[in-house]
Amino acid sequence: MQKAECLNHMAPYLFAQIDKKRDALTSQGIDVISLGIGDPDMPTPAHVVDAMAEAIRKPANHQYPDYAGSLAYREACASYLKRRFSVDVDPKTEVLALIGSKEGIAHLITAFVNPGEYVLAPSIGYPVYSGGTTLQSAHTYFMPMTEENGFLADFDHVPADVLAKAKIMFLGYPNNPTGAIATDEYFDRAIAFCREHDILLAHDNAYCDLTYDGYVAPSILERPHAKDCCIEFFSLSKPYNMTGWRIAFAAGNAYAIEALGTVKNNLDSGQFTAVQEAAIAALTGDQQCVADMCELYRQRRDLLVEALRGIGMDVEAPKATIYIWAKVPQGETSESFATKLLETAHVIVTPGNGYGPDGEGYVRISLTTPDERILEAVRRIKETM
Ligand SMILES: *Cc1c(COP(=O)(O)O)cnc(C)c1O
Repeated sequence: MQKAECLNHMAPYLFAQIDKKRDALTSQGIDVISLGIGDPDMPTPAHVVDAMAEAIRKPANHQYPDYAGSLAYREACASYLKRRFSVDVDPKTEVLALIGSKEGIAHLITAFVNPGEYVLAPSIGYPVYSGGTTLQSAHTYFMPMTEENGFLADFDHVPADVLAKAKIMFLGYPNNPTGAIATDEYFDRAIAFCREHDILLAHDNAYCDLTYDGYVAPSILERPHAKDCCIEFFSLSKPYNMTGWRIAFAAGNAYAIEALGTVKNNLDSGQFTAVQEAAIAALTGDQQCVADMCELYRQRRDLLVEALRGIGMDVEAPKATIYIWAKVPQGETSESFATKLLETAHVIVTPGNGYGPDGEGYVRISLTTPDERILEAVRRIKETM
């Protein structure tokens, strides 16, 4: 037996590795505090669970779902975009249901990128952009990101030979893991760049509804000419505490939506219609649940930022996302610091280099843990340092 060559180039999935180390410690009876993975700890809102309970009893929902998602779900996605961003999309041609944005992102690469071609990915970003590219036997070009430029990926210096073979550019703001936010001017420049070079701009907007201090995150589809070259990924996972449900959607350029749909038609048969009905309840129902989550994460953010600064760590309070992006102390690398915290403080943080080359020198700390565990973790980190 011989597995596909591209699999030899896959780095082990970041969180799978960390889970393994955690399990080893937990099995020795050690209390490990995870500030690692970005998985909301609060339950899915009750009205969404109720909608699911009702939907699951309908025999019509027990059959194969519509490939592209039910029209009712796609209409709910379109009405969300209209209400939230004043963006107009045609639910029939410009919206596609996804079994989580993760599969949508990976399958978009299958839909657009031939072996040997390039994907432009942020040098600090969601690992699936480069992982999906490797699985397609294609190359990732990492666009530099630095603190000085506000962690806005630099696409102005892509070498000409890469640019000639580049098919997709991934961006994602509010950014996981840095917490950075983009300006309209940056989005406009990215759209102009992708139109000029005939590149599909894929914007990963998983955190647009988890924002703080009055900041309201945009959709890239608000920008002029966006539909010429953009597809945007929205996920119910983070704002509605629905990571386990696997429901998201893509919206934007009709050609890109159709191509992604063609890949998905052939690989999956869509998400369970009952889950889509629950998602309609989330998107069209009372949004107080999202405001409540923002308030909870803001309190945790403030607690953690203050505590980390108190022990001499260099951190900014992000205006969005559920993460703190922290510089590691002098003399440490991302890995050495994360390993030290895990082995001596029994606290999991995610090494920044797992998000790409420019993530070196940082760790990501999640806000998905209750206050008392956050404070206990900071106390343990202080002891370790
Ligand atoms: C969590 C996350 C996703 C994946 O969301 P799913 O819809 O659960 O697959 C995509 N992009 C980013 C940046 C994320 O943090």
